[in-house]
Amino acid sequence: MSKIRIATTSLAGCFGCHMSFLDMDERLVGLLEHVELDRSPLTDIKHCGPCDIGLVEGGLCNAENVQVLREFRQQCKILIAVGACAINGGVPAMRNHYSVQECLEEAYVNGVGVDNPMIPSDPELPLLLSKVHPLHEVVRVDYYLPGCPPSGDAFFTILSDLLAGKEPSLSKAMLHYD
Ligand code: SF4
Repeated sequence: MSKIRIATTSLAGCFGCHMSFLDMDERLVGLLEHVELDRSPLTDIKHCGPCDIGLVEGGLCNAENVQVLREFRQQCKILIAVGACAINGGVPAMRNHYSVQECLEEAYVNGVGVDNPMIPSDPELPLLLSKVHPLHEVVRVDYYLPGCPPSGDAFFTILSDLLAGKEPSLSKAMLHYD
């Protein structure tokens, strides 16, 4: 039987959701008998190929995030928004109360401990969006895995259900909105 192919990525996130993915602990061994990984921090593959499931952590704060998310949507049959940042922008979206210029000045000019104040302008840097967006504002999302981060149990349940061809069903105890 061919394996299910899964890709994961972190956009404007902190990798905490990926750490929680690893909290499946020894259950990962059983899972990997049925799953192979495409693009993911665990494989270091740079572009998402055709996949069954894409797990996306983090919202969208720059043009590169949008590009990566569109590639995931194009390549993945099922797209899951993982964690508060992907679902509603989370902590990075706190900057939405300020202009991009105010944020840059706070980070690189006026912030505590800034030495040699200078706003970076290298053309290689991804262009910042004026606001941080959750995934569903840019692409269609199939499932949402709430939490900051979702628990390892929640990851295991949603992936096991999808692998079994079932509609995912998370118990109330697994649904966290903090
Ligand atoms: S939801 Fe929480 S753990 Fe996940 S990327 Fe955002 S801040 Fe990090």
